[in-house]
Amino acid sequence: SYPVHGRIDGAVVIIGFGSIGMGVLPLIERHFDYDASRLTVIDPDPDMAIWLKQHRIRHLSLGLTRDNYREVLGDLFAGGPGFCVNVSVDVSSLDVMKFCREIGVLYIDTVVEPWSGFYFETEDNAARTNYALRQAVRDEAARNPGGTTAVSCCGANPGMVSWFVKDALLRLAADTGRAVTAPTTREGWARLMQSLGVKGLHIAERDTQARARPKPRGTFVNTWSVEGFIAEGFQPAELGWGTFEPWFPENGHRFETGCRSAIWLERPGAITRVHSWCPTPGPQFGFLVTHNEAISISDYYTVGDAASPTFRPTCHYAYHPCDEAILSLHELFGGGRKQDRLEILTADEITEGGDELGVLLFGHEKNALWYGSRLSNDEARRLAPLQNATGLQVSSAIIAGMVWALENPEAGIVETDEMDHARCLEIQRPYLGPVEAHYTDWTPLATRWDLFPEEHDDKEPWAFLNVLAT
Ligand code: NAD
Repeated sequence: SYPVHGRIDGAVVIIGFGSIGMGVLPLIERHFDYDASRLTVIDPDPDMAIWLKQHRIRHLSLGLTRDNYREVLGDLFAGGPGFCVNVSVDVSSLDVMKFCREIGVLYIDTVVEPWSGFYFETEDNAARTNYALRQAVRDEAARNPGGTTAVSCCGANPGMVSWFVKDALLRLAADTGRAVTAPTTREGWARLMQSLGVKGLHIAERDTQARARPKPRGTFVNTWSVEGFIAEGFQPAELGWGTFEPWFPENGHRFETGCRSAIWLERPGAITRVHSWCPTPGPQFGFLVTHNEAISISDYYTVGDAASPTFRPTCHYAYHPCDEAILSLHELFGGGRKQDRLEILTADEITEGGDELGVLLFGHEKNALWYGSRLSNDEARRLAPLQNATGLQVSSAIIAGMVWALENPEAGIVETDEMDHARCLEIQRPYLGPVEAHYTDWTPLATRWDLFPEEHDDKEPWAFLNVLAT
């Protein structure tokens, strides 16, 4: 009874079989027609080997490395066509994407992942940013335009949230009495955001998933990759830097090359707090964890020249992970060492909560609009097997991106901002639970503690100075 959205000719290879790989496999089975005997999972984790064997899924029990990826993937795809779904950690998105395009294989990932070692062995903080990782992919796209489609960063965020930004802009236009049709060019979208008076946006997320027992000490608990979260949490905080910002952080750095849409701070993102807002909690703290979409969205919605734009929105993540992850970060940063045990909460052990993930467009005439998915874990379990609410928001975006790639097989290297958001959301929406729009009159000036004086800007409520918690 599920719609088959397309046919994949050739081999299907899933690199990485963690929380996302395990969730995306049943959706691939559900929504694509392909030769099941040519589907292979590559993952070095021995625990996964047992599960895959029990489920009769072809498995290569090895880790891809700089030295073996061409040979391993070359053998599996045997010259193409096919589809490569990269949902691993420690495997270079750029190298694998380049190779797939070389042999005519469609490619998708959910993050610009580097080879092992990058996150903790790169000493230069500027080189350790997502700006640097993304720019390398953008440079490759510019050097080799067109050709076999490779979709970069198509998960929930980065990914789906870029489609939400477009839906939210059209919603805001309608709710403020403007007769607007969906723009068809990047410039058109950027001008629409500018004309609506949007100054910036948060990727505003609240994960309330919890299980019955408390977090065990010495264990890092999260609802998706612990390795991935720790890696990005230790990168410098980064944000797309808007043209309206009246202030510049003392520990902030700009970039002199590339799209120049973002800045980075001399501080890890996972201990940098920002004031933000989501429908369930209302005002809340989030972490300014670096994410690709903060940079890509600010870049995509730039009006004018990259170095001196006339309009660019501020854009950053404001992430409130599940409560056990907050405690885990507290323990990790306080203790100065990574926990020995890492756990990802499974859909079956979660007893309450969900993931509320959306975009908070601020600064316009209706103050702020949150637009996003409010998916409970209970609903996620009813909709698809083997994943919690967080996982389903990600894996369903991968399915949407795969459909788009099959329908646009010669689009070159693309980001989700550049894809047909309406088509992608049409595919993904059955998996997102309620997708809602909420207006709020809250601003970052509304939730201060008056007993302790602090620097803030009364004239510009949405200034990053006010958003950043000291
Ligand atoms: P996970 O930690 O649960 O699983 C990662 C898997 O990769 C593990 O099974 C591990 O054994 C495997 N792996 C490690 N080294 C490998 C190698 N060299 N070759 C092949 N496989 C290898 O992670 P997850 O939660 O499944 O996330 C997967 C990826 O998706 C991560 O990069 C994560 O950052 C990303 N992600 C993106 C979003 C988004 O919304 N864009 C959301 C969640 C996760």
